[in-house]
Amino acid sequence: MDYLKAKTILSGYKENKEWFGINYNMNIYKGCSHGCIYCDSRSECYRVDDFDVVRGKENALAIIDRELRSKRVKGVVGTGAMSDPYNPMESIYELTRGALKGIQRYGYGIHISTKSPLVVRDIDLLSAIAKKAPVLVMMTITSADDVLCRKVEPYVSPSSERFKAIKQLSDAGIPTGVLMMPILPYIEDSPENIKEIVIHAHANGAKVIYPAFGVTLRDRQRQWFYDHLDNHFPGLKEKYQRQFGEAYSCQSPNAKQLWQMFEALCKELGIVYKMEEIIKSYRAPFDEVQLSFF
Ligand code: SF4
Repeated sequence: MDYLKAKTILSGYKENKEWFGINYNMNIYKGCSHGCIYCDSRSECYRVDDFDVVRGKENALAIIDRELRSKRVKGVVGTGAMSDPYNPMESIYELTRGALKGIQRYGYGIHISTKSPLVVRDIDLLSAIAKKAPVLVMMTITSADDVLCRKVEPYVSPSSERFKAIKQLSDAGIPTGVLMMPILPYIEDSPENIKEIVIHAHANGAKVIYPAFGVTLRDRQRQWFYDHLDNHFPGLKEKYQRQFGEAYSCQSPNAKQLWQMFEALCKELGIVYKMEEIIKSYRAPFDEVQLSFF
């Protein structure tokens, strides 16, 4: 694996109420080899060329240790926004695991977004962190069907493996949920798909699900997506072009109906699905006691 120079790894300092209440953002890798056809991190604004090549940040663990030690305000560190922290390189280099050790040592919480069951390797550390600070692992699942999953997220474990990982995490007492986004219009936006994801998530112990019934598309990310539509879903690119033009936000035409069905099912199963309540569900016990202590 190649390494890039980095001066800092953690960014942010204020609770992000729109994204799981995280206080800090951590990107320990640059690039991702999971190959998702809709990946937003390919957008030009992030300026990551050769996105499929995973690179580590030089001295990442020493930098993170210094940053965690010196922050005046403890809080929840979020990871998984720009690159999957459990990409295949992680099984060899263990940078995410090393960062979790620091997070535990200095009393921070952790919010993880991933598509990889490799996260279960770190149950020991997540359990240790959860004794003193908030922990939430969100497994991204956009299709309940492994065959469809292979087409849209080709180089990471299929959804069935991710559901198993959710079970292992929740059996170990780790607060776990599903990030059900994006739901690709005309590909994944059927009531059956949404219903199956929610039911499987619940059956495997997920306590929260956060959805988006649509996808955002821009510049080279859109091009990458359209190239893959041509390969796997002939004729769909033209349908997207007619329906969405150059719009950034491409909402499913079924969004309203899907949301109503999703909401009713979550209420029936006792799943938390609104951001404010998700944040409360995993942060509140610590916000009131532990974090005020710091
Ligand atoms: S796992 Fe996330 S970062 Fe990696 S390719 Fe897929 S969407 Fe992009």
